[in-house]
Amino acid sequence: MLNQLDGHTILIGLMAYPIRHSMSPTMHNHAFAKLGLNFAYLAFEITNEGLPKAIDAIRTLDMRGSNISMPNKQKVIPLLDKLDPATEMIGAVNTVVNDHGVLTGYTTDGVGMIKSLDDEGINIRGQKMTLAGAGGAGTAIAIQCALDGVKEISIFNQDDEFFAQAKRNVDVINEKTDCKATLHRLEDRDDFKAEIDDAYIYCDATGVGMNPLEGQTLVSDPSWFRKDLVVFDTVYAPRTTKLMEVAQEAGVEHVFNGLGMMLEQGAAAFKLWTGKEMPVDYIRDILFNEDAK
Ligand code: NAD
Repeated sequence: MLNQLDGHTILIGLMAYPIRHSMSPTMHNHAFAKLGLNFAYLAFEITNEGLPKAIDAIRTLDMRGSNISMPNKQKVIPLLDKLDPATEMIGAVNTVVNDHGVLTGYTTDGVGMIKSLDDEGINIRGQKMTLAGAGGAGTAIAIQCALDGVKEISIFNQDDEFFAQAKRNVDVINEKTDCKATLHRLEDRDDFKAEIDDAYIYCDATGVGMNPLEGQTLVSDPSWFRKDLVVFDTVYAPRTTKLMEVAQEAGVEHVFNGLGMMLEQGAAAFKLWTGKEMPVDYIRDILFNEDAK
């Protein structure tokens, strides 16, 4: 055991399905142990059907909270007492905090993305972002970036069920933040190329490049990328996606996968539960070393 568990141990959950592959238990339990915090983090396979009882168990068992992942990120909202304002705009929850029976929902994915860039010395505030995707990750990134001072966001989505969400994201950003958002169709390749060319950062939040779309990319021509563009892929398995390879071939200096985002979204949740900073450099080493295991 990492921790010396006893009668005072405070439980944090992760409620999702499927979930056995998640790195979050490793991340949080190592962080608790490193800081000597008497907490334990456990993953529970919870579908939409089991969610109401599972959320109620947070109160019943006096858990400090839980992470929430697919397929429960939206379904959890009516089961909570409060949402923080950014989370209300995003419309999805990945972290629940229990304050003496009052459950508040937060979304830390967007915060994590921005913090992971800060960690690398990249400041996207005041800049223009071109973003592909409007699912869970794309929505959290778009709205948090708009709230945190990104000046302009061009949101691209293919013509599927997420296009309406992309439109909603654009409308929410334009109504409620100082950022200017525009909606674009991914099928319009000339427009896509021009908007990437005009941006400081290109972020792919589609999951293209990850299993079952591993080896694929929305941009396969290195000439689309300037050397001073920042290229960010939310995918972290594989560590180097096809998009990242194309960007590296183009000579782009700042190319990132989603591992830093994953780490920092966890650190933000950790802070909400414990009030402490996660020892991110220590945890980063452990997570990167997972590759070697
Ligand atoms: P989602 O299913 O909610 O959304 C998928 C988005 O990608 C939609 O906008 C959809 O239209 C688009 N899309 C799907 N297939 C496409 C294709 N073939 N071509 C173009 N667009 C396509 O998924 P999500 O939860 O937002 O996750 C997206 C990716 O982000 C995944 O790879 C996930 O692992 C990653 N992610 C990473 C982190 C992190 O911390 N790094 C956090 C959340 C999600």
